[in-house]
Amino acid sequence: MAITILRGDITRQRVDAIVNAANSSLLGGGGVDGAIHRAGGPAILEACRALRAGEYRQGLPTGQAVATTAGRLDARWVIHTVGPVWSRDEDRSALLASCYRESLRVAAELGAASVAFPAVSAGVYGWPAESAARIAVDAVRAHGTEVDDVRFVLFNDEVYAAFERAAG
Ligand code: ADP
Repeated sequence: MAITILRGDITRQRVDAIVNAANSSLLGGGGVDGAIHRAGGPAILEACRALRAGEYRQGLPTGQAVATTAGRLDARWVIHTVGPVWSRDEDRSALLASCYRESLRVAAELGAASVAFPAVSAGVYGWPAESAARIAVDAVRAHGTEVDDVRFVLFNDEVYAAFERAAG
């Protein structure tokens, strides 16, 4: 498995699966979630609604992952995962690590050879970049996977630099 750190828009990646930092409603939001739904079109939301009507009536729990179509994106699948909201009082890093492990498990199950991750929880959910990056890189390295090509695609300089340091 090779890990690559890239700066850019994850919706432009040519990979088998793009991971979405979703919220538990699966019904769309801002940040990378909004960008993925905008670029992928309505088929993704339709698939998310079907999940909410079936297996995930209460929403997707934090730390878990589930795949849908990628609609019009170049990718074949979007893997939705729900990161924990940052807390000063409570250590939620196990849940953040779980997002990466569960996403890789789903990707391997689908047969994806390449997966692109955003910095889960590092936006609206408020996770400090340095810590988010270390947890992400460590979780992927420790998990190991049949996925050959794992990319972290970071949207801003601060988060990108933190991932470079974590992977270095
Ligand atoms: P969360 O709610 O899990 O914090 P956000 O979408 O708010 O999710 O932010 C997660 C990270 O995704 C942030 O670092 C944000 O800058 C980044 N991001 C936003 N848009 C994109 C995009 N198009 N491609 C890659 N990363 C993005």
